[in-house]
Amino acid sequence: MDHAERKMRFLYAVRSRGVTDARVLAAIEAIDRGAFVRGAFAERAYEDTPLPIACGQTISQPSVVGLMTQALALTGRDKVLEIGTGSGYQAAVLAKLSRRVYTVERHRRLVLEARAVMAALDLPNITVVHGDGSFGLPEQAPFDSILVTAAAEDPPGPLLAQLRVGGIMVVPVGQSDAVQSLIRVRRHEGGYDYEELRSVRFVPLVEGVGPD
Ligand code: SAH
Repeated sequence: MDHAERKMRFLYAVRSRGVTDARVLAAIEAIDRGAFVRGAFAERAYEDTPLPIACGQTISQPSVVGLMTQALALTGRDKVLEIGTGSGYQAAVLAKLSRRVYTVERHRRLVLEARAVMAALDLPNITVVHGDGSFGLPEQAPFDSILVTAAAEDPPGPLLAQLRVGGIMVVPVGQSDAVQSLIRVRRHEGGYDYEELRSVRFVPLVEGVGPD
């Protein structure tokens, strides 16, 4: 199978799993997932499956990246916060659909690798920050959208506080070793509305910065 055919099948698989927003599909088409996966797994970059990356973490399944992105209803003018940069793939897809993306990662090695890929792919509207994302990024708040790509037991309070009124946060909630629920939170004048979207499986949100 040549690259064009592999990519066409990949996009078809992502769409058949519910990613129907044309702008989100175009962003997934535009970002080369192969640039975010290293070594032996690189040849599987165009399969709709999660894959291992450094520091014992995973790059998410592309259709899940698409569904989470779609759930944020980005306008192209948004200031977005992502917690859990990992490979940087999700952040790159977000960057195609928003004004500015801040993404926070606790492993320094992943931060450095993601920055290098963003530079190589010429995605200047992404800032990769090394730190504990459970506390968000207060100096850049409020955000129009917040996406958490690691599972928390509850939506973290500091992140709820950094969402602007009218904004949307998407977060996997549940025990780390079990199936979790993907929750969409909308902030309004009087508080927050919660909606369960589907079940997902993410690595846990861990406190503090990583050892590497
Ligand atoms: N969005 C990523 C996949 C996320 S994997 C991608 O597109 O590849 C989840 C990531 O969250 C891991 O890299 C993990 O190190 C990170 N993480 C877990 N807890 C964190 C925390 N408290 N702050 C920042 N990053 C965290």
